[in-house]
Amino acid sequence: MRLADVRGRIAKACEAAGRDMNDITLIAVTKTRPASDVRLLSELGLRDVGENRDAEAAPKAAQCADLNLTWHFIGQLQTNKCASVVRYASVVHSVDRLRLIRALGQAARRADRVVSSLIEVSLDGDPARGGAPAEQVPPLAEAVAAEPGLVLGGVMAIAPLGLAPAEAFARLLDSAAVVRAVRPSATVISAGMSGDLEAAVEAGATHLRIGTALLGDRGPRVR
Ligand SMILES: *Cc1c(COP(=O)(O)O)cnc(C)c1O
Repeated sequence: MRLADVRGRIAKACEAAGRDMNDITLIAVTKTRPASDVRLLSELGLRDVGENRDAEAAPKAAQCADLNLTWHFIGQLQTNKCASVVRYASVVHSVDRLRLIRALGQAARRADRVVSSLIEVSLDGDPARGGAPAEQVPPLAEAVAAEPGLVLGGVMAIAPLGLAPAEAFARLLDSAAVVRAVRPSATVISAGMSGDLEAAVEAGATHLRIGTALLGDRGPRVR
């Protein structure tokens, strides 16, 4: 567990950017890690947990149901997994198409839950890796805002390979402004992973998704 290191990096980046560390939420990405790691993070005071696969996240969240945690679903989401995901996730970071908005909204209403939804923006225009092209952000944001059971929360992106993170996150800010035009309180900017958290803080990220810098290598099999 390298929580002090990560908090130190965030503090330094905030100082360089003239930002308040309290404006940044650290999400511990616990994919491939056992529920016991989640429990440890919780004991250290972390409240936000990120997972990218429902098959792994659902049982883990159930094992940690006694903890006061906010679960973030950060991976590509299939419509047939929505009913399961809304049972534990309060925030879905990977909303990138109309069909998913309808399915997620329906699942949230059936479960009597409200799900904060972030529009995932593809910064390199490669839809295979998830995320919507920037030009689709306005209609998707409108659709989320109009969908009962969902609340428009903001935007999310993964810095693409082959593009400097600073440039990628600068592009994300345009989409963040578009989303705030639809709902002014949709201020979440989920950007920054272990390798690029400094660039994300500099660009204005409000939520960082940190796995390996916190918990060590996941091993060669897992992306
Ligand atoms: C795994 C993952 C992360 C964390 O990545 P690290 O490089 O381990 O910090 C962040 N965001 C998403 C969407 C992920 O799948």
